[in-house]
Amino acid sequence: MTSQPSTPTTPSQPASDFNHIQHVVAVLSGKGGVGKSIVSSLLAVTLQRRGYRTGILDADITGPSIPRMLLPDGARLTEDPRGIPPAVTRTGVKVMSINLLLRSEHEAVIWRGPLIGRAIQQFWTDVVWGDLDYLIVDLPPGTSDASLTVMQFLPLSGAVLVTAPQALAGMVVRKAAQMAEMLQVPLLGLIENMSYFTCPDSGQPHAVFGPGHAEELARALRVPILARLPIVPELAELSDNGRLEDYPATEFVPIADQIVASATKPRLPPFDVNLHGV
Ligand code: ADP
Repeated sequence: MTSQPSTPTTPSQPASDFNHIQHVVAVLSGKGGVGKSIVSSLLAVTLQRRGYRTGILDADITGPSIPRMLLPDGARLTEDPRGIPPAVTRTGVKVMSINLLLRSEHEAVIWRGPLIGRAIQQFWTDVVWGDLDYLIVDLPPGTSDASLTVMQFLPLSGAVLVTAPQALAGMVVRKAAQMAEMLQVPLLGLIENMSYFTCPDSGQPHAVFGPGHAEELARALRVPILARLPIVPELAELSDNGRLEDYPATEFVPIADQIVASATKPRLPPFDVNLHGV
């Protein structure tokens, strides 16, 4: 079923007038299923734990997964006369996702590109984010309209690329990186997720999906490797049950620190680019 989400209020002044957001960081992947939403969520949780006021804008309008990962009680939105209030996780991360505006998380959103783009712009202009140090934007996989809207209209400080060891994932993430470069979004680094699994009996790491191509990819894209993350079976369970904040995520501390160090000046939108008829 196609859904038209309802906004709780009709504000007379854009909510963005009340927002002060220092840095907007997009998380991109080429292919779906490489762990981009988990990385977005754990990055946001880690930044919040390190004292930065953090939010997540779920720009994956047709495949939103952030509320399911971080809001175990399927949080409902409260009223705010200034605009749409975000949901807030247990540790204080602010979240906005199309799923929070639907009657049920199972309702499908079947929209064409322009409507998706408008929803993303509204998440920027009509959501009462308040004061944030970091807003993490979880993009859908690939180089779709949604990614284009985010890169053209949001004042991004940079983008983080997420890939997996499979060559296919590496090949497609290059396309996403190319799009970011065309729109002058600084690439902050590459994360290879699901790089290896540590056998609980022997303590030996195993490259379950093969040796990976992170180094070659990072060299080609001229970006640093921010981390190689292991396969952690517990993560799948925690993310399925909205309990991702129970995960210690110590491996995300150096990632968060590198992002804080490199996400300096936001570039100012809107950005236009000759997309060669794409
Ligand atoms: P994407 O946003 O790229 O589509 P998700 O973040 O939704 O991917 O992750 C896809 C699935 O893989 C989820 O079920 C998630 O729990 C699981 N997953 C992702 N990264 C890991 C990991 N490092 N270890 C175990 N499971 C993972």
